[in-house]
Amino acid sequence: MSLPQSPLMGQMMNQPLLVSGILEFAARHFGDSLIVSRRVEGDIHRYTYRDCHQRARRLANALHGMGIALGDRVATLAWNGYRHLEAYYAVSGSGAVLHTINPRLHPEQIAYIINHAEDQVLMFDLTFLPAVEAVAAHCRQIKHYVLMCDRDRMPAETRIPNLVCYEDLIASHTDDYTWPLFDENSACTLCYTSGTTGNPKGALYSHRSTVLHAYGSALPNALNVTSRDVVLPVVPMFHVNAWGLPYSVPLSGAKMVFPGAALDGKSLYELFEAEQVTFSAGVPTVWLGLINFMLQNKLKFSSFRRTVIGGSACSPAMMNTLMDELGVEVIHAWGMTEMSPLGTAGVLLGKHLELPQDEQRKILLKQGHAVYGVDMKIVDDDGKELPWDGSSYGHLMVKGPWVIAAYYKDEGGDPLQHGWFPTGDVATIDADGYMQITDRSKDVIKSGGEWIGTIDLENIAVSHPAVMQAACIGIAHPKWDERPLLVIVRKPGMEVSREELLAFYDGKIAKWWLPDDVVFADALPLGGTGKVQKNKLREQYKEYKLPTA
Ligand code: AMP
Repeated sequence: MSLPQSPLMGQMMNQPLLVSGILEFAARHFGDSLIVSRRVEGDIHRYTYRDCHQRARRLANALHGMGIALGDRVATLAWNGYRHLEAYYAVSGSGAVLHTINPRLHPEQIAYIINHAEDQVLMFDLTFLPAVEAVAAHCRQIKHYVLMCDRDRMPAETRIPNLVCYEDLIASHTDDYTWPLFDENSACTLCYTSGTTGNPKGALYSHRSTVLHAYGSALPNALNVTSRDVVLPVVPMFHVNAWGLPYSVPLSGAKMVFPGAALDGKSLYELFEAEQVTFSAGVPTVWLGLINFMLQNKLKFSSFRRTVIGGSACSPAMMNTLMDELGVEVIHAWGMTEMSPLGTAGVLLGKHLELPQDEQRKILLKQGHAVYGVDMKIVDDDGKELPWDGSSYGHLMVKGPWVIAAYYKDEGGDPLQHGWFPTGDVATIDADGYMQITDRSKDVIKSGGEWIGTIDLENIAVSHPAVMQAACIGIAHPKWDERPLLVIVRKPGMEVSREELLAFYDGKIAKWWLPDDVVFADALPLGGTGKVQKNKLREQYKEYKLPTA
């Protein structure tokens, strides 16, 4: 976009917004702050931002030695850990582009995105050695493979060509490296969407968008990251840059705790306690594991006070357990890969503090208020803007400096509609600007020309004491087009019948929203980012015959 230039330009330093500046700042101003990692090797590793900066510069020198230049893509297949953080800064800071791969994708999808991104180096954790051995033959453009482990863990034999040990690489280069300056609009990281339909598409973040997102997401009205916090990002660094925490935490100077591959309730609880974590972020499925472990073992947190939940809707049952039984404030946030990811965060306004607790909870259960940097609106099928009255629902559109303008390699054409990005979510916005997601537009159930939002139906189901997980899908219906079918996973050892569950909805929803039937399952299909794969459920139940009324 070319913009008019004022005859009188500002006279401040024109310093580009580059992510290297974040680590440089952390090392200089919070040099002693700790980064603690549970390693794939099994032990706990500790060092400081100063150490991280030094090793990141060694790695930047090593990448230079491998011939990696401005704009080249370097991929990682790695858990949350200190080496991954070093790669975040060394790759992007040196001007190359960090491509974080979700290891939960199918091997064919992994090979597809490696080739699509034209990655030249792949750095990976020991856990993923078999996965990399399986795909290496199909990734012709990769020139160097780097195994992120200690020397003594390197395999004696492997089919992977040009495999080097990360520690050898670091050791063979000095930290004499000055972060280069370049245009802040240069690509910084590349993250592919989960691709539930068709091939994944790449969101290519710039340095400018990443730094602005780091500032915006650290604000008190958003994640509120401070130098007094101990932050444990449960959300993986391969899922939309761990929601920006590898940037917002160092710029705030907070202590960082990385959980590595151990994301089960017990391992997380032990790490939260051992490192006195105060703040965390993750998807509902992870909290479910942690909460169940704690309730079963009658455990409490001694330091953990605040968490961000996003990626899928946080149910009232989960929010109530965390807030009332475990003393953890929940910030319900919404965003997407195409938005770096943060769009909204659920923090109360001053006037809400007067409200009774159950009224406050209703506001906190919404997906939240826009964070400065993101504008949003809801529109009808014709693109006409709908009112912010908390009940009109429509297609949610966003724009802002950290919202996607085009997919990598222009895949899928122009994603924007009149300058706004259609999120694919259906939402309401209330008079105070709090947005609530009703559904994904492809998951919403269309019954007799009206829409039934599945999130509400699922939230009610999981507030039943015997229900662990719930998913609601539309089943074809001769008269109404579609009607809701509820798929339930019961808590271990608990019983509840179809009739009891349907009766549980009495008085909680409009009668015509009541699911037509309930089926019980052992588990729900989860995608690589912990979301229920409703397309799979729809496929599984596509022949399902609903009872006739
Ligand atoms: P992804 O790009 O994989 O992070 O997925 C983004 C999508 O996840 C959004 O478009 C929403 O449909 C969904 N999502 C993210 N956060 C929430 C939330 N707090 N509540 C409900 N859905 C969410």
